[in-house]
Amino acid sequence: TKNNGRNGYNFFQPSMNTLAQSQLQLNNDLWQALDNQELRLFYQPKYCAPSGPILGFEALLRWQHPTRGLLAPDIFLPIAEKTGMIVNIGNWVIDEACRQLHMWHLQGHPHWSVAVNLSAVQFEQSGLVETVQAALAKHQIPAELLTLEVTETTAMRDPEESVRILTELTRMGVKASIDDFGTGYSSLLYLKRLPASELKIDRAFVNELQAHSEDATIVSAIVALAQSLNLKVVAEGVETADQQAFLTGLGCNTLQGYLLGKPLPPERISELPNFVDA
Ligand code: C2E
Ligand code: CA
Ligand code: CA
Ligand code: CA
Repeated sequence: TKNNGRNGYNFFQPSMNTLAQSQLQLNNDLWQALDNQELRLFYQPKYCAPSGPILGFEALLRWQHPTRGLLAPDIFLPIAEKTGMIVNIGNWVIDEACRQLHMWHLQGHPHWSVAVNLSAVQFEQSGLVETVQAALAKHQIPAELLTLEVTETTAMRDPEESVRILTELTRMGVKASIDDFGTGYSSLLYLKRLPASELKIDRAFVNELQAHSEDATIVSAIVALAQSLNLKVVAEGVETADQQAFLTGLGCNTLQGYLLGKPLPPERISELPNFVDA
């Protein structure tokens, strides 16, 4: 068995190196990606349930890699988070989302909002308020049309600090949304104190809504909690008409998911159903 352990060690060593090398290569490529404009934002619509107008979009990062094709954020954001490059990328995302919002205004959609995801490192970085302010000013965007999505886990890492950061941001007029809600461990006391205007129910609960009645119970509880705290509640990952009906029945009025629209590059969003202004 000592031998097996040794063999196991010897067997895994090369593949670990290969993985590390490929991560390193991706990290180098990522610096180029920013310079070479290979990063793109896709936009997924948020609909007013059940078949209402588009309220706005969530910006989702993609990397058009020169040799590997279109990469999803799970592939490269964890590395960027480790190296700190996420701050540069995140700043670009905020600016680009505001630029797109301005384009939509010019195209006759002045009520659409855009939501941007913030990583933990970016959220805790001291220049965030200035970055947001600068992007809003540069693209002449009313602050209330920008939502910043922070995961429950990020927000609860240092709850006092999160209250402070979100207070500063929301004072400007931007909105805050607590993302992936239900997957972390929120203290209700802090949840109440966070100046957020929205909770997003994580896809994991919406997914299994039909299969497991516990998930239906959890989702009902989250909707009730949001309503009692005066928060808007958004369900993500809606894939079936049954899920949509169930959520709507609970009073969850903003829906996002493949059933309603997948994330699309901006030049393709006119293909979406109900492509009308709110
Ligand atoms: P998230 O914020 O929870 O975003 C929702 C994810 O679910 C997105 O994956 C979206 O494409 C996917 N999705 C939406 N509707 C459905 C559905 O009906 N079914 C299924 N199966 N999936 C659906 P994506 O775009 O791969 O993004 C993954 C995560 O990467 C995001 O999770 C977010 O945490 C992060 N992310 C994306 N863009 C950014 C960014 O610009 N900055 C930062 N810091 N993180 C980002
Ligand atoms: Ca999100
Ligand atoms: Ca999620
Ligand atoms: Ca997430």
